[in-house]
Amino acid sequence: MILHIDMDAFFASIEQAINPRLKGRPLIVGSRGKRLHTVVCAASYEAKALGIDSGMPSKEAFQLCPNLSFVPAQQGRYIWTSEQILGLLKGYGFQVRYASIDEFQMDILDTQNPQTLAQGIQNRIQEAFKITASIGIAKNSLLAKLASKINKPNGRLILTEENLAQILAGIPVEKLCGIGPKTGPFFADLGIKTCLDLYQKSANFLEQILGKNGINLYASLHSNEYFQVQEGDEKPKSIGHSYTLPRASENTGFIRAWIRLLSEMVARRLREQNLVSKTVNLWLNGPEIGNFGAQKTYEQAINDGYEVYHRCLTIMAKTGRKMPKIRALGVTCSNLILAQYSSLFREQKRREELIKAVDKINARHGEDTIYPAVVTLTRKLR
Ligand SMILES: [Mg+2]
Repeated sequence: MILHIDMDAFFASIEQAINPRLKGRPLIVGSRGKRLHTVVCAASYEAKALGIDSGMPSKEAFQLCPNLSFVPAQQGRYIWTSEQILGLLKGYGFQVRYASIDEFQMDILDTQNPQTLAQGIQNRIQEAFKITASIGIAKNSLLAKLASKINKPNGRLILTEENLAQILAGIPVEKLCGIGPKTGPFFADLGIKTCLDLYQKSANFLEQILGKNGINLYASLHSNEYFQVQEGDEKPKSIGHSYTLPRASENTGFIRAWIRLLSEMVARRLREQNLVSKTVNLWLNGPEIGNFGAQKTYEQAINDGYEVYHRCLTIMAKTGRKMPKIRALGVTCSNLILAQYSSLFREQKRREELIKAVDKINARHGEDTIYPAVVTLTRKLR
């Protein structure tokens, strides 16, 4: 069984937990100093109730709610909390992996009481961080993620062989992760309207209409999933993070900020494992570009988020001059080697020492004690 944890309105909830005056108020998180010229990065549930959601221009949000609270994004704080939650989950002794900055997955094997386990996790997250999470449990990660979305916020849903058909029959197929705005109408023409309609189609049928993707979709829906156990201390082949935006955006600053955030997360994990990477892969998905993935290999291996980010920008230049609409994105570092030797270049060495010092201070004091000041949402970068 896979347990999928999705934090509720993550960034906004963290801000409300830190500042009690923001509790119960409609609130958006956006870029520093750009109240009216940014994109909503996160909205509290009180704001969501007014029709405000991530990806919406902040100007529009203020039109919907003139006394909306605005908080500049504190990305270091969100990454820190995300990592603390990951640590808390690892304490349960199961294999845990990141699904995105605010989503985690655990392979809970044949745990007897998944309901109790899920509730315990929700309680501990609530106690430790004063924020809520929704949990879905199912035989694979696709269904578990779907289940986590059904009873938000602070929801819990377990899909079993007994209740699966009944629940899937009530969920529109577009809710399923990976079904885009184009696929929805395409499915509707074939009479596939609910998740159950899709679930009941044969592998053959899905292959006929979607080719190889159809086979993969069938497998993702029906398989019993287990996380692969990593053997011994063997180093991973790649380290990556991805994120799906709540709606497509072509705001350059917003997209770049997400790439920077993902780059920082990947780089921090590289450093934790004492690895450096020569190859950076950027993956973008959007209505105009479909799936765009490209990688670039460099002579010099790195584990600095800023460098990873710049390599991503070089790759992104390949999509053309104008920023395409982006719905989901991912940064992955591969071609990993052990970071045994410090660079001989002086400048490089100074930067490495600086990063090491920052990691050390952050590890000791937690929070975003020290964090690159440029990680603010829409700052224009070179
Ligand atoms: Mg979430």
